[in-house]
Amino acid sequence: MYETVQSPYQPLLSDLAYKYNYLIAALLAVLIILFTAWLYFTLQRQKYLELLEAKNLELETAAKQALAASEAKSSFLSRMSHEIRTPLNAIVGFSQLLTTEEDPEVRKEYNDIVSLNNGLLLQIISDVLDLSRIESGRIDPVKSRFDLRTLCREAVETFRLQAPEGVVLRVEKRLPSCTVCEYRQGVMQILANFIRNALKFITKGSVTVGFERKRDRLSLYVRDTGIGIPAGELDKIFERFYKVDTFTQGTGLGLSICKSIAEQMGAQIGVDSAVGEGSCFRVEMPIAE
Ligand code: ADP
Repeated sequence: MYETVQSPYQPLLSDLAYKYNYLIAALLAVLIILFTAWLYFTLQRQKYLELLEAKNLELETAAKQALAASEAKSSFLSRMSHEIRTPLNAIVGFSQLLTTEEDPEVRKEYNDIVSLNNGLLLQIISDVLDLSRIESGRIDPVKSRFDLRTLCREAVETFRLQAPEGVVLRVEKRLPSCTVCEYRQGVMQILANFIRNALKFITKGSVTVGFERKRDRLSLYVRDTGIGIPAGELDKIFERFYKVDTFTQGTGLGLSICKSIAEQMGAQIGVDSAVGEGSCFRVEMPIAE
């Protein structure tokens, strides 16, 4: 038979083992806390870096847009100052000549030049005002009901005196009365621009104003028998400052103004044309009677 002998170190050893286990557990807990903290801060850092990158990208895009806007503004201003200076120089120059000239025929010639350039200057200023009004999103405040046939007649009457000799400006025959609910001022402005252009690029024939129903849209048109536009230019003429012939009068803003007004009205403008035969400019509006 054996007798169990209790070692005198037994309690000390088990105490040591207990403390050792405790120490390991504490160490593990500290490691876990440290790892969690490291993971948390790494993820946070990653998140902030991504956020920073996105903000940087946003800032870069905004800076590029601001630069493009500032360049567009500068080019617009230099273009406008050139456009304004040309008629202004003519007005100042010929007005001075008028004060000394005595020959009535020459005086009349100078007078005509001054009044032609007065008109040009007025048109440029009115184009610029229109442009700024349209860009700030201000066309008519509300839609109103009006008769399209009456509007066509009014537009034709306004321009009748400006039609060159040998050109008939008229409203389409047998046009029905047609009440629409639209931005009257906007429609009138587009129509006026189309008629003004038609009268500018015609020497004989006719300019006809009318409208027709095309399914759910109403197509208002100005058709002329003028010089026409080459096929390759048809898209470009709606861009700002674009003119088929740089020597013709005008800023090249009229059609781009029409396009912006049409877009704000939810309408579209377009043109069919053939060189030597004439052009037909249209604005197509959704029908809201
Ligand atoms: P502007 O304000 O100088 O008249 P637009 O933007 O209205 O300029 O027109 C741009 C160009 O489109 C004109 O310079 C002309 O070349 C061409 N154009 C516009 N309407 C007609 C037309 N009815 N017949 C021939 N060309 C036209």
